[in-house]
Amino acid sequence: AAEEGFDQEEVEGALGEAGHGPLPVLAVVGRPNVGKSTLVNRIIGRREAVVEDRPGVTRDRVTYEAEWAGRRFKVVDTGGWEQDVLGIDASVAAQAEFAVEAADAVVFVVDAVVGATDTDEAVVKLLRRAGKPVVLCANKVDGPSGEADAAYLWSLGLGEPHPVSALHGRGTGDMLDEVLKALPEAPRETFGGVALGGPRRVALIGRPNVGKSSLLNKVAGEERVVVNELAGTTRDPVDELIELGGKTWKLVDTAGIRRRVHLTEGADYYASLRTAAALEKAEVAVVLIDVSESISVQDLRIITMAVESGRAVVLAYNKWDTLDEERRFYLEREIERDLVQVQWAPRVNVSARTGRHVEKLVPAIETALAGWETRVPTGKLNAFLGEIVASHPHPVRGGKQPRVLFGTQAGTKPPRFVLFASGFLEAGYRRFVERRLREEFGFEGTPLQISVRVRE
Ligand code: GDP
Ligand code: GDP
Repeated sequence: AAEEGFDQEEVEGALGEAGHGPLPVLAVVGRPNVGKSTLVNRIIGRREAVVEDRPGVTRDRVTYEAEWAGRRFKVVDTGGWEQDVLGIDASVAAQAEFAVEAADAVVFVVDAVVGATDTDEAVVKLLRRAGKPVVLCANKVDGPSGEADAAYLWSLGLGEPHPVSALHGRGTGDMLDEVLKALPEAPRETFGGVALGGPRRVALIGRPNVGKSSLLNKVAGEERVVVNELAGTTRDPVDELIELGGKTWKLVDTAGIRRRVHLTEGADYYASLRTAAALEKAEVAVVLIDVSESISVQDLRIITMAVESGRAVVLAYNKWDTLDEERRFYLEREIERDLVQVQWAPRVNVSARTGRHVEKLVPAIETALAGWETRVPTGKLNAFLGEIVASHPHPVRGGKQPRVLFGTQAGTKPPRFVLFASGFLEAGYRRFVERRLREEFGFEGTPLQISVRVRE
């Protein structure tokens, strides 16, 4: 009876929308001006031109969702990057490397009119090393006469060049068919892969110098295991398998931690790309915070990235060995003031240097993963919603009182809820519902996604 006003299709639509797992990732790489952004726009079917948008090295958002022939995937856009920060060659190599690390397949865009340049050749080497499937896009083939240009690109040794006009859409469909063949059917090591017994995937993130590589070395140390073929996992040279607390964990994208990049300009940007790439692959993020310094805007940005990526989150306060009474006092104030939005994250106070409490990371990670996977049965959820609606009704606005009619959990990893309501729910009320959900069902260490459908 509570479902009045919503038809079955609408409910299922809401569930379908929210109930997907991680998607395979496609990286679009190539040197500047070959048409990467134009192609990405074409793939994601967007009208407005990202080509015009060149905010440079501070741009965070690099992935988009796309769909072709009924299959969904993510596209990492490396177009629109600042070209001359590091000198073209260096920046092209770096951008391609970062994007390729996180990808399941790569579209390598070459300007067919210009032909293969030295920079293109350099990218080819990098692609060979990475070993990911590559679809070669011979771009700017705006008409049949350009197809001969495309054929020259066989010389790159990447197989068939696909003649495309990103600008006009010519040939992009055929190329996307090839892309689908290259992308794994199920997302790599699907969350189902976990059920197959694959190790849980952990990202160690934090701003430069918080102690990521120190902690990695501490936990990897002697205990580092080399496991070859675990069922349902693919080996990825940028990830490390580590034995901790009697279990095998996969620390993702450790190459990004171990690599000592000496960049001055643009370093923040690359650090944030690395963070995004690691989060993309992980199930849980361990966010390191350096307690010897004040919590910074950069720390907050990284925490926000982790939360918005929908991963489980553990906060590790590192360099605990440096704390004196006074700093400790201020630290607790900073945490209260700046980190209220992640109060739900388990916290461990560690020292990568001395090894203090490092073993506590495992139970914290397990708690966070458990919260991340929690499913509340619909009956229980609605009993709970009924109670809070009765005891704490939404305030009356303009003579109307919106009501939560019923709700359902649309998915896990992280838990996603869809609430059906008789009117617009204010942000404050949504926060109240989230708070009460957490009090009632736990959800320690996981962001919650709550969307509201309003019956018109
Ligand atoms: P990016 O730097 O690789 O992201 O390249 P952009 O997407 O910004 O494109 C660079 C320039 O090439 C822009 O002026 C585009 O309009 C142009 N361009 C991109 N694709 C094509 C194409 O298929 N044909 C033609 N003629 N021009 C293109
Ligand atoms: P990353 O940039 O996040 O990988 O940070 P590093 O692991 O390179 O650490 C940066 C600096 O902090 C190095 O000088 C480390 O020795 C130091 N450091 C890391 N962890 C700790 C710790 O727990 N205590 C102290 N006192 N110093 C640490």
